[in-house]
Amino acid sequence: MAAPSLASTSERCHEIAQSYLQIEEPLSQIIRETQNAIKLTQKLLLNEIFPRWSPFNGEISFSYNGGKDCQVLLIIYLGCLWEYYKTNMNGQEFPLKTLKAVFIDQDKTFQTLEQFVESTKKRYSLSLYESDRNHTKALSMPEAFHKYLGDQPETKAIVVGIRYADPFAQDLKPIQRTDDGWPDFLRLQPLLHWKLAYIWSFLLYSGEPICGIYSVGFSSLGDINHTLPNPYLAKTNDLPLRYQWEITHGCEGVVNCSPLSSQDSHFQNNEYLPGWYLLDDSLERCGRIKKNKT
Ligand code: ATP
Repeated sequence: MAAPSLASTSERCHEIAQSYLQIEEPLSQIIRETQNAIKLTQKLLLNEIFPRWSPFNGEISFSYNGGKDCQVLLIIYLGCLWEYYKTNMNGQEFPLKTLKAVFIDQDKTFQTLEQFVESTKKRYSLSLYESDRNHTKALSMPEAFHKYLGDQPETKAIVVGIRYADPFAQDLKPIQRTDDGWPDFLRLQPLLHWKLAYIWSFLLYSGEPICGIYSVGFSSLGDINHTLPNPYLAKTNDLPLRYQWEITHGCEGVVNCSPLSSQDSHFQNNEYLPGWYLLDDSLERCGRIKKNKT
């Protein structure tokens, strides 16, 4: 089957966001707060970001690694792209065939995640730059982005799905230059104000495929040697499911998870609940093992 066009994908993502915003009953606190979070992200993109860096001329790139946060932001970003196009260029052909994106895949990641990135690359029409792994020594993030900008020099700003709850993110701003030690570009961070619960409520309602590794106890994905199922998701903890309404109404009762790869199938041991059972932002990275400083 032919891959959908970026125009039709953007329109579909616009419908997903609008549909979520129109939920009226039952308006749980999580849904109401998520609706507000979506509106703020849309406002940042449509009123502050797109008028300054055109989303249609290669100045903006999207940092994408298949994780839940950047997937949520990608859906909202594409929906805004559709709205911006309809408002400013209606009648003309949709100006982009693909969305510029960058994946720094230096570390050894889960095979399920790699396969998910590959399939969503097609689903969302991404022209995804993937950093070269064939180094004797892996590049640092700043080095990898330096290389990316050398390859794509028209890039002025990069969209990042970071949230305030992430490490060292409390003082970030939605639009800011990179820190010292990084190549110079604007970081566009319109998801900062999102809580973990908003991410899952929206993503489950969207009915979009979700990376399968989240279904077996993972709540945040680092590299394969430093990420384990989150102990707070052990089935013995007996956590309630808070998103039954979203799952019933958004994805016809079945969460659409990508298949686990053969390498990751051993995680299917029934000991852990899926990542979306975790509500507490402060516990999200409890499956991450700290890296030793060398
Ligand atoms: P999760 O927390 O479940 O892993 P996530 O990967 O989307 O979800 P973070 O790991 O907190 O979220 O990363 C924050 C953001 O930084 C991502 O949403 C993405 O935009 C960017 N990012 C992180 N790692 C990479 C990477 N290796 N390549 C490109 N972008 C990345």
